[in-house]
Amino acid sequence: MSPSPETLRQWDNDHVWHPFTPMLAYRDESAPIIDRAEGFDLIDVDGRRYLDGISSLWCNVHGHRVPEIDQAIREQLDRIGHSTLLGLSSTPSIELAKRLVDLTPANLTKVFYSDSGATAVEAAAKIAFQYQQQRAPSRSTRRDLFLTIGGAYHGDTVGSVSLGSIELFHQVYGPLLFKTLSVPSPAPLHRPDGETPESWMKHCCDEVERVVQENQDRLVAVVVEPLVQGAAGILVHPTGFLRHLREVTREHGVLLIADEVAVGFGRTGTMFACEQEQVEPDLMCLAKGLTGGYLPVAATLATDEIFDAFLAAPEEGKTFFHGHTYTGNPLGCAAALASLDLFEKHDVLGNVQANAKAIEENLTSLRDHPHVAEVRQKGIMVGIELVQGREPLTPFPGSRRTGHLVTIAARKRGVILRPLGDVVVLMPAPAMPKANVDQLWEVAFEAIDEVTRSASSA
Ligand code: PLP
Repeated sequence: MSPSPETLRQWDNDHVWHPFTPMLAYRDESAPIIDRAEGFDLIDVDGRRYLDGISSLWCNVHGHRVPEIDQAIREQLDRIGHSTLLGLSSTPSIELAKRLVDLTPANLTKVFYSDSGATAVEAAAKIAFQYQQQRAPSRSTRRDLFLTIGGAYHGDTVGSVSLGSIELFHQVYGPLLFKTLSVPSPAPLHRPDGETPESWMKHCCDEVERVVQENQDRLVAVVVEPLVQGAAGILVHPTGFLRHLREVTREHGVLLIADEVAVGFGRTGTMFACEQEQVEPDLMCLAKGLTGGYLPVAATLATDEIFDAFLAAPEEGKTFFHGHTYTGNPLGCAAALASLDLFEKHDVLGNVQANAKAIEENLTSLRDHPHVAEVRQKGIMVGIELVQGREPLTPFPGSRRTGHLVTIAARKRGVILRPLGDVVVLMPAPAMPKANVDQLWEVAFEAIDEVTRSASSA
């Protein structure tokens, strides 16, 4: 007999340590325990339904229990669940590599598999570092620095935290991290006084040029979330910044790593964000939506030039010494192939573009809300920044957990959200029908209104 909802809740509190979750507060919140799903709805052990408003943390693409993906996984299960890619190969991992190479920018020809966004970035960083060592004509040229963008998030492993610059994580893990250089984001949460969007963009572009030029002998790579810095609060870069990074890195022989973990697979309106500025990065990181949000498969794509620097007799030690047990898992690769088929079959990118337009129109009404500082949107990625007051900009006290309160208010109305601090994030799945997207923003509006109204009267 299955345990009752009460027993599960008790065991959850007794034994499960939830990621990025303040566990003391969690115990009192009776968070839904998800048991199953239908389409874009999650259903908990008490039978309550919730619209999945964050695509199960930005990874779900076509909804849940998609017949074609379920079937592909079942068929793969009838062949084999897992075998290693270390020195062996497997059918779906080969087929998926070919599909990814055909889909991504033309210069990317090699696929290195791992399991999550963080590991895709970690692999990219190590590939870039080792490539620079192995291509250098003399070992005296030591490149050991990465350049990152202010507020970046690239994952939670020690390497990917080093490449990120979210202040809180650096405070906690600082002594464990390797040193990086940083330039300000062209889309800061709040621009310095006196700067217009144009003057600030120019300042950021100039900084990129200055830092790359001054450190060109030591820089391994520049790492960027193309177009949108997701975890920083859905910060949207001005047009041209990504292109600028590509031009400057190319000019100075520095690699460009595009972390498409959050923006990839349609979320900004194109399959990959790099396409919008015709940028060919040297390394591209993919995860989250790669399997349609079903299974943990990630990929780091590289150019021939990078790959060729690792080709040597085994005793020369130029092998890429990296790889996880479940790398390129066949079930995950089969799910990814089925997901990619569905992108074409259901014109998912067309759906993203239509929904993005509808969301933009509907968000207009929030722009004048007394507790909304900014509404940011790119494609179907939306961040609504809440503040106590707009003139002057005054944040809510952190202890109030306003973003979290909005999540709870939305949950009561049957929608799952997860904020980034006091930024309410809407992240519908790329294939979500318009009626569901309408429900999502309507509930978000109501929840924001309810929670901030009580702040006004407090
Ligand atoms: N890179 C970016 C841009 C992300 O947004 C995230 C997660 O949100 C990651 C990397 C880490 O991905 P994962 O949580 O799958 O390790």
